[in-house]
Amino acid sequence: MSSAPSNVRVRFAPSPTGYLHVGGARSALFNYLFAKKYKGKFILRIEDTDQARSTGESLQTMIQDLKWLGLNWDEGPSPETFKDMGPYAPYKQSERQDIYQQRALELLQAGKAYYCFMTDEEIEIQREKLKAAGAQTHVESPYENLTLSEAKQRLQKGDKAVVRFKTRHLKKDYILNDLIRGEVKFPSDMVGDFVLLRSDGMPVYNFCCVVDDYMMKISHVLRAEEHLPNTLRQLMIYEGLGWAVPQFGHISLVLDDDRQKLSKRKGAVACDQFKTDGYLPEALINYLALLGWTHPEQKEILTLDEMCASFSLDRVHPSGAIFDRVKLKWLNAQHLRALPNAEIYKKIQPFLNNAGLKLPDDSNWQMQSVELFKPYMEILSDAVNLYSPLDDNKYEIAAESDEVLKQDFTKTVLTVWKEAVSAHPKESFSEAEFLAIQDEVKNKSGQKGKNLFFPIRIALIGKPHGAELKILVPLMNKNSILKRASIALAKC
Ligand code: GLU
Repeated sequence: MSSAPSNVRVRFAPSPTGYLHVGGARSALFNYLFAKKYKGKFILRIEDTDQARSTGESLQTMIQDLKWLGLNWDEGPSPETFKDMGPYAPYKQSERQDIYQQRALELLQAGKAYYCFMTDEEIEIQREKLKAAGAQTHVESPYENLTLSEAKQRLQKGDKAVVRFKTRHLKKDYILNDLIRGEVKFPSDMVGDFVLLRSDGMPVYNFCCVVDDYMMKISHVLRAEEHLPNTLRQLMIYEGLGWAVPQFGHISLVLDDDRQKLSKRKGAVACDQFKTDGYLPEALINYLALLGWTHPEQKEILTLDEMCASFSLDRVHPSGAIFDRVKLKWLNAQHLRALPNAEIYKKIQPFLNNAGLKLPDDSNWQMQSVELFKPYMEILSDAVNLYSPLDDNKYEIAAESDEVLKQDFTKTVLTVWKEAVSAHPKESFSEAEFLAIQDEVKNKSGQKGKNLFFPIRIALIGKPHGAELKILVPLMNKNSILKRASIALAKC
Protein backbone atom coordinates (compact mmCIF):
# COMPACT_ATOMS: atom_id res chain seq x y z
CA MET A 1 0.00 0.00 0.00
CA SER A 2 1.60 3.26 -1.08
CA SER A 3 -0.17 5.85 1.08
CA ALA A 4 -1.72 5.37 4.49
CA PRO A 5 -5.37 4.33 4.18
CA SER A 6 -7.96 6.65 5.66
CA ASN A 7 -11.39 5.96 7.18
CA VAL A 8 -10.28 2.48 8.08
CA ARG A 9 -13.08 0.25 9.34
CA VAL A 10 -12.23 -3.40 9.80
CA ARG A 11 -14.08 -6.23 11.43
CA PHE A 12 -13.61 -9.57 13.08
CA ALA A 13 -16.63 -11.69 12.32
CA PRO A 14 -16.60 -14.95 14.26
CA SER A 15 -19.32 -17.56 14.07
CA PRO A 16 -20.14 -18.49 17.67
CA THR A 17 -20.13 -22.22 17.08
CA GLY A 18 -17.24 -23.23 19.34
CA TYR A 19 -14.20 -21.82 21.03
CA LEU A 20 -11.95 -18.99 19.84
CA HIS A 21 -9.21 -20.79 17.89
CA VAL A 22 -5.76 -19.21 17.92
CA GLY A 23 -6.07 -18.80 14.14
CA GLY A 24 -9.24 -16.75 14.68
CA ALA A 25 -7.53 -14.77 17.42
CA ARG A 26 -4.74 -13.96 14.98
CA SER A 27 -7.27 -12.67 12.41
CA ALA A 28 -8.82 -10.56 15.16
CA LEU A 29 -5.38 -9.28 16.15
CA PHE A 30 -4.34 -8.31 12.61
CA ASN A 31 -7.62 -6.42 12.19
CA TYR A 32 -7.13 -4.73 15.55
CA LEU A 33 -3.53 -3.74 14.75
CA PHE A 34 -4.52 -2.44 11.33
CA ALA A 35 -7.33 -0.35 12.84
CA LYS A 36 -5.08 1.09 15.54
CA LYS A 37 -2.21 1.79 13.17
CA TYR A 38 -4.42 3.84 10.88
CA LYS A 39 -6.63 5.34 13.59
CA GLY A 40 -9.62 3.46 12.32
CA LYS A 41 -12.37 1.43 13.93
CA PHE A 42 -12.34 -2.23 14.88
CA ILE A 43 -15.75 -3.87 14.74
CA LEU A 44 -16.90 -7.15 16.23
CA ARG A 45 -19.69 -8.72 14.21
CA ILE A 46 -21.32 -11.95 15.25
CA GLU A 47 -22.09 -14.28 12.35
CA ASP A 48 -24.72 -16.44 13.97
CA THR A 49 -27.00 -17.28 11.07
CA ASP A 50 -26.26 -20.98 11.51
CA GLN A 51 -28.84 -21.27 14.24
CA ALA A 52 -28.33 -24.96 14.81
CA ARG A 53 -24.65 -24.54 15.63
CA SER A 54 -24.48 -21.06 17.20
CA THR A 55 -24.70 -20.91 20.98
CA GLY A 56 -24.80 -18.15 23.57
CA GLU A 57 -22.13 -19.98 25.52
CA SER A 58 -19.73 -19.90 22.59
CA LEU A 59 -20.41 -16.19 22.09
CA GLN A 60 -19.66 -15.58 25.75
CA THR A 61 -16.35 -17.47 25.60
CA MET A 62 -15.29 -15.67 22.45
CA ILE A 63 -16.05 -12.28 23.96
CA GLN A 64 -14.21 -13.18 27.16
CA ASP A 65 -11.20 -14.43 25.22
CA LEU A 66 -11.01 -11.31 23.06
CA LYS A 67 -11.23 -9.20 26.21
CA TRP A 68 -8.56 -11.31 27.88
CA LEU A 69 -6.29 -10.78 24.87
CA GLY A 70 -6.88 -7.03 25.16
CA LEU A 71 -8.38 -6.75 21.67
CA ASN A 72 -11.01 -4.17 22.53
CA TRP A 73 -13.51 -3.36 19.84
CA ASP A 74 -15.10 0.00 19.05
CA GLU A 75 -18.42 -1.31 17.77
CA GLY A 76 -20.31 -4.55 18.30
CA PRO A 77 -21.83 -6.28 21.30
CA SER A 78 -20.73 -4.59 24.49
CA PRO A 79 -18.13 -6.74 26.27
CA GLU A 80 -20.09 -6.34 29.51
CA THR A 81 -23.77 -6.30 28.65
CA PHE A 82 -23.61 -7.79 25.13
CA LYS A 83 -25.96 -4.98 24.08
CA ASP A 84 -25.03 -3.40 20.78
CA MET A 85 -22.77 -0.37 20.78
CA GLY A 86 -22.16 1.63 17.61
CA PRO A 87 -24.04 3.31 14.78
CA TYR A 88 -24.50 0.26 12.55
CA ALA A 89 -26.35 -1.98 15.00
CA PRO A 90 -27.50 -4.67 15.16
CA TYR A 91 -24.11 -6.39 15.03
CA LYS A 92 -25.50 -9.91 15.35
CA GLN A 93 -26.58 -11.34 12.04
CA SER A 94 -29.48 -13.19 13.63
CA GLU A 95 -30.98 -9.76 14.34
CA ARG A 96 -30.53 -8.46 10.79
CA GLN A 97 -32.92 -10.76 8.99
CA ASP A 98 -35.12 -7.96 7.58
CA ILE A 99 -32.07 -6.31 6.06
CA TYR A 100 -31.04 -9.47 4.21
CA GLN A 101 -34.59 -10.14 2.99
CA GLN A 102 -34.79 -6.61 1.64
CA ARG A 103 -31.49 -6.92 -0.23
CA ALA A 104 -32.43 -10.34 -1.61
CA LEU A 105 -35.66 -8.84 -2.91
CA GLU A 106 -33.68 -6.12 -4.67
CA LEU A 107 -31.62 -8.78 -6.47
CA LEU A 108 -34.76 -10.77 -7.33
CA GLN A 109 -36.48 -7.67 -8.70
CA ALA A 110 -33.44 -6.75 -10.74
CA GLY A 111 -33.39 -10.26 -12.25
CA LYS A 112 -29.97 -10.96 -10.71
CA ALA A 113 -31.32 -13.70 -8.50
CA TYR A 114 -34.22 -16.12 -8.86
CA TYR A 115 -36.32 -18.58 -6.93
CA CYS A 116 -35.16 -22.09 -7.70
CA PHE A 117 -37.64 -24.90 -7.04
CA MET A 118 -35.27 -27.78 -7.79
CA THR A 119 -35.41 -30.52 -5.19
CA ASP A 120 -32.26 -32.03 -3.71
CA GLU A 121 -32.99 -35.17 -5.67
CA GLU A 122 -33.29 -33.30 -8.97
CA ILE A 123 -30.02 -31.52 -8.25
CA GLU A 124 -28.30 -34.82 -7.54
CA ILE A 125 -29.58 -36.44 -10.73
CA GLN A 126 -28.44 -33.43 -12.74
CA ARG A 127 -25.04 -33.53 -11.06
CA GLU A 128 -24.55 -37.18 -11.95
CA LYS A 129 -25.49 -36.50 -15.57
CA LEU A 130 -23.12 -33.55 -15.86
CA LYS A 131 -20.37 -35.59 -14.25
CA ALA A 132 -20.93 -38.49 -16.64
CA ALA A 133 -20.69 -36.05 -19.55
CA GLY A 134 -17.41 -34.73 -18.18
CA ALA A 135 -18.93 -31.25 -17.71
CA GLN A 136 -18.75 -28.94 -14.71
CA THR A 137 -21.21 -29.98 -12.05
CA HIS A 138 -22.66 -26.57 -11.19
CA VAL A 139 -26.43 -26.41 -10.85
CA GLU A 140 -28.13 -25.58 -14.15
CA SER A 141 -31.51 -24.49 -12.92
CA PRO A 142 -34.52 -24.53 -15.23
CA TYR A 143 -35.97 -21.73 -13.08
CA GLU A 144 -33.30 -19.18 -13.94
CA ASN A 145 -35.70 -17.13 -16.04
CA LEU A 146 -38.88 -17.68 -14.07
CA THR A 147 -40.49 -14.31 -13.40
CA LEU A 148 -40.88 -13.13 -9.86
CA SER A 149 -44.67 -13.20 -10.07
CA GLU A 150 -44.69 -16.77 -11.40
CA ALA A 151 -42.37 -17.77 -8.58
CA LYS A 152 -44.56 -16.05 -6.00
CA GLN A 153 -47.60 -18.00 -7.21
CA ARG A 154 -45.77 -21.28 -6.66
CA LEU A 155 -44.56 -20.15 -3.26
CA GLN A 156 -48.11 -19.25 -2.27
CA LYS A 157 -49.16 -22.79 -3.17
CA GLY A 158 -46.60 -23.95 -0.60
CA ASP A 159 -43.79 -25.01 -2.96
CA LYS A 160 -40.32 -24.67 -1.46
CA ALA A 161 -37.58 -22.68 -3.16
CA VAL A 162 -34.14 -21.32 -2.46
CA VAL A 163 -33.02 -17.97 -3.85
CA ARG A 164 -30.06 -18.39 -6.17
CA PHE A 165 -27.69 -15.81 -7.55
CA LYS A 166 -27.44 -15.87 -11.36
CA THR A 167 -23.92 -16.53 -12.55
CA ARG A 168 -24.12 -18.22 -15.94
CA HIS A 169 -24.07 -14.99 -17.90
CA LEU A 170 -21.03 -13.66 -16.01
CA LYS A 171 -18.40 -14.94 -18.35
CA LYS A 172 -15.22 -13.24 -17.23
CA ASP A 173 -12.35 -13.33 -14.80
CA TYR A 174 -12.74 -11.55 -11.50
CA ILE A 175 -9.46 -9.99 -10.45
CA LEU A 176 -8.74 -9.37 -6.83
CA ASN A 177 -5.75 -7.29 -5.77
CA ASP A 178 -5.30 -8.96 -2.47
CA LEU A 179 -3.35 -6.86 0.02
CA ILE A 180 -1.39 -9.90 1.18
CA ARG A 181 -1.43 -12.34 -1.71
CA GLY A 182 -1.18 -9.92 -4.63
CA GLU A 183 -3.27 -10.48 -7.74
CA VAL A 184 -5.71 -13.38 -7.53
CA LYS A 185 -7.69 -14.30 -10.64
CA PHE A 186 -11.03 -16.09 -10.32
CA PRO A 187 -12.65 -17.32 -13.56
CA SER A 188 -16.40 -16.82 -13.10
CA ASP A 189 -17.15 -20.44 -13.93
CA MET A 190 -15.41 -21.54 -10.75
CA VAL A 191 -18.86 -21.28 -9.21
CA GLY A 192 -22.37 -22.03 -10.38
CA ASP A 193 -25.62 -20.31 -9.38
CA PHE A 194 -25.17 -20.21 -5.63
CA VAL A 195 -27.73 -19.94 -2.87
CA LEU A 196 -28.44 -16.61 -1.18
CA LEU A 197 -31.48 -17.63 0.87
CA ARG A 198 -32.25 -21.18 1.92
CA SER A 199 -35.73 -22.62 1.45
CA ASP A 200 -36.63 -21.64 5.02
CA GLY A 201 -35.69 -18.05 4.13
CA MET A 202 -32.43 -18.06 6.12
CA PRO A 203 -29.67 -16.16 4.35
CA VAL A 204 -26.28 -17.84 3.83
CA TYR A 205 -22.89 -16.60 5.01
CA ASN A 206 -21.66 -15.17 1.68
CA PHE A 207 -24.73 -13.01 1.28
CA CYS A 208 -24.91 -11.74 4.88
CA CYS A 209 -21.21 -11.01 4.83
CA VAL A 210 -21.44 -8.76 1.76
CA VAL A 211 -24.56 -6.97 2.96
CA ASP A 212 -23.02 -6.34 6.38
CA ASP A 213 -19.57 -5.36 5.16
CA TYR A 214 -21.21 -2.85 2.84
CA MET A 215 -23.72 -1.49 5.33
CA MET A 216 -21.18 -1.31 8.14
CA LYS A 217 -18.86 0.60 5.79
CA ILE A 218 -16.05 -1.92 6.15
CA SER A 219 -13.03 -0.60 4.26
CA HIS A 220 -10.75 -3.64 4.50
CA VAL A 221 -11.70 -7.29 4.89
CA LEU A 222 -8.78 -9.06 6.54
CA ARG A 223 -9.58 -12.69 7.10
CA ALA A 224 -8.23 -16.20 6.85
CA GLU A 225 -7.08 -17.62 3.54
CA GLU A 226 -9.65 -20.39 3.79
CA HIS A 227 -12.28 -17.79 2.84
CA LEU A 228 -10.64 -17.10 -0.51
CA PRO A 229 -13.07 -19.41 -2.37
CA ASN A 230 -15.94 -17.40 -0.86
CA THR A 231 -14.49 -14.18 -2.15
CA LEU A 232 -15.48 -14.85 -5.76
CA ARG A 233 -19.12 -15.26 -4.75
CA GLN A 234 -18.87 -12.15 -2.66
CA LEU A 235 -17.37 -10.15 -5.55
CA MET A 236 -20.29 -11.24 -7.70
CA ILE A 237 -22.79 -10.11 -5.07
CA TYR A 238 -21.11 -6.71 -4.75
CA GLU A 239 -21.32 -6.34 -8.48
CA GLY A 240 -24.95 -7.48 -8.55
CA LEU A 241 -25.92 -4.92 -5.95
CA GLY A 242 -23.83 -2.21 -7.61
CA TRP A 243 -21.74 -1.67 -4.52
CA ALA A 244 -18.08 -0.68 -4.24
CA VAL A 245 -15.87 -3.58 -3.19
CA PRO A 246 -13.78 -3.21 -0.02
CA GLN A 247 -10.10 -4.09 -0.08
CA PHE A 248 -9.34 -7.69 0.79
CA GLY A 249 -6.36 -9.26 2.50
CA HIS A 250 -6.33 -13.01 3.02
CA ILE A 251 -4.10 -14.13 5.87
CA SER A 252 -2.29 -17.44 5.47
CA LEU A 253 -3.27 -20.52 7.43
CA VAL A 254 -1.78 -21.42 10.78
CA LEU A 255 -0.11 -24.81 10.42
CA ASP A 256 1.12 -27.58 12.69
CA ASP A 257 4.77 -28.55 12.47
CA ASP A 258 3.78 -31.21 9.92
CA ARG A 259 2.37 -28.39 7.77
CA GLN A 260 -1.23 -29.53 8.24
CA LYS A 261 -3.87 -27.06 9.33
CA LEU A 262 -3.36 -26.48 13.06
CA SER A 263 -5.45 -28.95 15.01
CA LYS A 264 -6.06 -30.18 18.53
CA ARG A 265 -4.04 -33.33 17.86
CA LYS A 266 -0.81 -31.48 18.60
CA GLY A 267 -1.94 -29.60 21.72
CA ALA A 268 -4.08 -26.64 22.69
CA VAL A 269 -5.60 -24.52 19.93
CA ALA A 270 -8.32 -22.74 21.91
CA CYS A 271 -7.42 -19.40 23.46
CA ASP A 272 -9.10 -20.29 26.74
CA GLN A 273 -6.97 -23.43 26.94
CA PHE A 274 -3.83 -21.32 26.78
CA LYS A 275 -5.29 -19.16 29.53
CA THR A 276 -5.98 -22.25 31.66
CA ASP A 277 -2.49 -23.57 30.98
CA GLY A 278 -0.97 -20.38 32.36
CA TYR A 279 -0.02 -18.33 29.33
CA LEU A 280 -0.09 -14.56 29.59
CA PRO A 281 -2.37 -12.79 27.12
CA GLU A 282 0.41 -10.35 26.23
CA ALA A 283 2.67 -13.27 25.31
CA LEU A 284 0.04 -15.08 23.27
CA ILE A 285 -0.78 -11.87 21.40
CA ASN A 286 2.92 -11.24 20.81
CA TYR A 287 3.34 -14.76 19.47
CA LEU A 288 0.27 -14.53 17.24
CA ALA A 289 1.53 -11.28 15.75
CA LEU A 290 4.78 -12.97 14.75
CA LEU A 291 2.81 -15.76 13.14
CA GLY A 292 2.97 -14.42 9.62
CA TRP A 293 4.15 -10.87 10.32
CA THR A 294 7.64 -9.56 11.02
CA HIS A 295 8.60 -6.39 12.84
CA PRO A 296 10.52 -3.94 10.61
CA GLU A 297 13.59 -4.29 12.86
CA GLN A 298 12.98 -7.99 13.45
CA LYS A 299 12.14 -7.32 17.10
CA GLU A 300 10.50 -10.31 18.71
CA ILE A 301 9.42 -9.26 22.18
CA LEU A 302 6.73 -6.68 21.65
CA THR A 303 3.93 -5.03 23.57
CA LEU A 304 0.55 -4.50 21.98
CA ASP A 305 1.32 -0.78 21.63
CA GLU A 306 4.60 -1.51 19.88
CA MET A 307 2.82 -3.88 17.51
CA CYS A 308 0.14 -1.25 16.75
CA ALA A 309 2.80 1.33 15.95
CA SER A 310 4.83 -0.88 13.63
CA PHE A 311 2.17 -3.06 11.99
CA SER A 312 1.66 -3.02 8.23
CA LEU A 313 0.19 -5.50 5.81
CA ASP A 314 3.23 -5.42 3.53
CA ARG A 315 5.14 -7.28 6.23
CA VAL A 316 2.46 -9.99 6.46
CA HIS A 317 3.66 -13.06 4.56
CA PRO A 318 1.41 -14.96 2.19
CA SER A 319 2.88 -18.38 3.06
CA GLY A 320 1.55 -20.61 5.83
CA ALA A 321 2.82 -19.92 9.35
CA ILE A 322 3.91 -22.79 11.58
CA PHE A 323 2.62 -22.73 15.12
CA ASP A 324 5.75 -23.29 17.20
CA ARG A 325 4.74 -24.17 20.75
CA VAL A 326 8.34 -24.06 22.00
CA LYS A 327 8.74 -20.50 20.81
CA LEU A 328 5.40 -19.50 22.32
CA LYS A 329 6.54 -20.85 25.68
CA TRP A 330 9.85 -19.05 25.38
CA LEU A 331 8.07 -15.77 24.61
CA ASN A 332 5.78 -16.35 27.55
CA ALA A 333 8.80 -16.78 29.81
CA GLN A 334 10.25 -13.50 28.55
CA HIS A 335 7.04 -11.59 29.25
CA LEU A 336 6.57 -13.32 32.60
CA ARG A 337 10.07 -12.71 33.91
CA ALA A 338 9.86 -9.04 32.92
CA LEU A 339 6.98 -8.49 35.35
CA PRO A 340 7.54 -7.19 38.90
CA ASN A 341 7.72 -10.05 41.43
CA ALA A 342 4.55 -8.95 43.19
CA GLU A 343 2.69 -9.10 39.88
CA ILE A 344 4.06 -12.56 39.15
CA TYR A 345 2.95 -13.85 42.55
CA LYS A 346 -0.53 -12.42 41.98
CA LYS A 347 -0.73 -14.25 38.68
CA ILE A 348 0.54 -17.60 39.94
CA GLN A 349 -1.59 -17.54 43.09
CA PRO A 350 -4.77 -18.88 41.43
CA PHE A 351 -2.73 -21.80 40.06
CA LEU A 352 -1.24 -22.53 43.49
CA ASN A 353 -4.69 -22.30 45.10
CA ASN A 354 -6.25 -24.57 42.50
CA ALA A 355 -3.56 -27.14 43.20
CA GLY A 356 -4.56 -26.93 46.89
CA LEU A 357 -1.14 -25.69 48.05
CA LYS A 358 -0.91 -24.10 51.51
CA LEU A 359 1.93 -21.61 51.49
CA PRO A 360 3.05 -18.75 53.76
CA ASP A 361 0.86 -15.68 53.61
CA ASP A 362 3.86 -13.41 54.01
CA SER A 363 4.69 -11.00 51.25
CA ASN A 364 8.45 -11.01 51.90
CA TRP A 365 8.45 -14.77 51.57
CA GLN A 366 6.32 -14.55 48.45
CA MET A 367 8.67 -12.03 46.80
CA GLN A 368 11.71 -14.08 47.75
CA SER A 369 10.14 -17.22 46.34
CA VAL A 370 9.35 -15.54 43.01
CA GLU A 371 12.88 -14.17 42.79
CA LEU A 372 14.29 -17.66 43.29
CA PHE A 373 11.80 -19.56 41.15
CA LYS A 374 11.23 -17.26 38.19
CA PRO A 375 14.24 -18.42 36.18
CA TYR A 376 12.55 -21.85 36.18
CA MET A 377 9.07 -20.59 35.26
CA GLU A 378 7.95 -20.39 31.64
CA ILE A 379 4.20 -20.49 32.12
CA LEU A 380 2.21 -19.68 35.23
CA SER A 381 1.23 -23.29 35.89
CA ASP A 382 4.94 -24.21 36.21
CA ALA A 383 4.67 -22.62 39.65
CA VAL A 384 2.69 -25.61 40.93
CA ASN A 385 5.60 -28.05 40.59
CA LEU A 386 8.07 -25.50 41.85
CA TYR A 387 6.10 -24.60 44.99
CA SER A 388 4.71 -28.06 45.83
CA PRO A 389 7.81 -29.22 47.72
CA LEU A 390 7.33 -26.26 50.07
CA ASP A 391 3.92 -27.37 51.33
CA ASP A 392 4.27 -29.67 54.38
CA ASN A 393 0.88 -31.19 53.63
CA LYS A 394 2.11 -32.38 50.26
CA TYR A 395 5.28 -33.86 51.73
CA GLU A 396 5.54 -37.60 51.32
CA ILE A 397 8.40 -40.00 50.86
CA ALA A 398 8.34 -41.51 47.39
CA ALA A 399 8.86 -45.23 46.81
CA GLU A 400 11.97 -44.42 44.79
CA SER A 401 13.62 -43.40 48.09
CA ASP A 402 13.38 -46.88 49.64
CA GLU A 403 16.71 -48.04 48.27
CA VAL A 404 18.57 -45.16 49.96
CA LEU A 405 16.54 -45.38 53.18
CA LYS A 406 17.65 -49.00 53.61
CA GLN A 407 21.35 -48.06 53.73
CA ASP A 408 23.09 -47.72 57.12
CA PHE A 409 24.72 -44.42 56.25
CA THR A 410 21.31 -42.77 55.73
CA LYS A 411 20.39 -43.01 59.39
CA THR A 412 23.80 -41.70 60.44
CA VAL A 413 23.66 -38.77 58.02
CA LEU A 414 20.09 -37.82 58.94
CA THR A 415 20.70 -38.02 62.67
CA VAL A 416 23.70 -35.71 62.47
CA TRP A 417 21.93 -33.44 60.01
CA LYS A 418 18.82 -33.13 62.17
CA GLU A 419 20.97 -32.19 65.17
CA ALA A 420 22.78 -29.52 63.16
CA VAL A 421 19.51 -28.07 61.84
CA SER A 422 18.10 -28.04 65.32
CA ALA A 423 21.17 -26.19 66.65
CA HIS A 424 20.83 -23.50 63.96
CA PRO A 425 20.13 -20.24 65.80
CA LYS A 426 17.57 -18.87 63.33
CA GLU A 427 14.22 -19.96 61.92
CA SER A 428 15.38 -19.79 58.33
CA PHE A 429 18.49 -20.74 56.39
CA SER A 430 20.41 -18.89 53.75
CA GLU A 431 21.98 -20.90 50.97
CA ALA A 432 25.41 -20.44 52.63
CA GLU A 433 24.11 -21.59 56.01
CA PHE A 434 22.54 -24.64 54.47
CA LEU A 435 25.80 -25.52 52.69
CA ALA A 436 27.75 -24.97 55.93
CA ILE A 437 25.46 -27.43 57.73
CA GLN A 438 26.00 -29.92 54.94
CA ASP A 439 29.80 -29.59 55.39
CA GLU A 440 29.45 -30.09 59.11
CA VAL A 441 27.45 -33.29 58.50
CA LYS A 442 30.08 -34.46 56.04
CA ASN A 443 32.82 -34.08 58.63
CA LYS A 444 30.87 -35.61 61.48
CA SER A 445 29.37 -38.55 59.56
CA GLY A 446 32.36 -39.25 57.33
CA GLN A 447 29.95 -39.52 54.34
CA LYS A 448 30.27 -37.57 51.10
CA GLY A 449 28.84 -37.38 47.56
CA LYS A 450 25.61 -39.30 46.97
CA ASN A 451 25.77 -40.93 50.40
CA LEU A 452 25.57 -37.48 51.91
CA PHE A 453 23.22 -35.73 49.47
CA PHE A 454 20.62 -38.43 48.84
CA PRO A 455 19.56 -38.81 52.48
CA ILE A 456 19.31 -35.02 52.89
CA ARG A 457 17.31 -34.69 49.69
CA ILE A 458 14.96 -37.43 50.73
CA ALA A 459 14.43 -35.75 54.07
CA LEU A 460 13.76 -32.39 52.43
CA ILE A 461 11.68 -33.28 49.40
CA GLY A 462 10.84 -36.96 49.80
CA LYS A 463 12.95 -38.22 46.88
CA PRO A 464 16.62 -38.43 45.93
CA HIS A 465 16.23 -36.42 42.71
CA GLY A 466 14.32 -33.24 41.84
CA ALA A 467 14.32 -29.58 42.73
CA GLU A 468 17.52 -27.77 43.63
CA LEU A 469 17.83 -27.78 47.40
CA LYS A 470 19.82 -24.57 47.62
CA ILE A 471 16.81 -22.81 46.11
CA LEU A 472 14.21 -24.56 48.22
CA VAL A 473 15.88 -24.43 51.60
CA PRO A 474 15.97 -20.63 51.92
CA LEU A 475 12.19 -20.78 51.45
CA MET A 476 11.64 -23.39 54.18
CA ASN A 477 11.60 -22.90 57.92
CA LYS A 478 13.37 -24.83 60.63
CA ASN A 479 10.22 -26.33 62.04
CA SER A 480 9.16 -27.78 58.71
CA ILE A 481 12.66 -29.14 58.00
CA LEU A 482 12.84 -30.82 61.41
CA LYS A 483 9.41 -32.41 60.93
CA ARG A 484 10.48 -33.77 57.58
CA ALA A 485 13.77 -35.07 59.02
CA SER A 486 11.82 -36.97 61.69
CA ILE A 487 9.49 -38.53 59.11
CA ALA A 488 12.47 -39.67 57.01
CA LEU A 489 14.35 -40.98 60.06
CA ALA A 490 11.33 -42.99 61.12
CA LYS A 491 11.56 -44.82 57.78
CA CYS A 492 15.21 -45.70 58.15
N1 GLU B 1 -17.86 -16.03 10.14
C1 GLU B 1 -16.71 -16.34 9.37
C2 GLU B 1 -15.83 -17.29 10.18
O1 GLU B 1 -16.01 -17.42 11.37
C3 GLU B 1 -15.92 -15.09 9.09
C4 GLU B 1 -15.81 -14.83 7.67
C5 GLU B 1 -15.24 -13.48 7.28
O2 GLU B 1 -14.41 -12.95 8.02
O3 GLU B 1 -15.65 -13.01 6.24
O4 GLU B 1 -14.97 -17.91 9.62
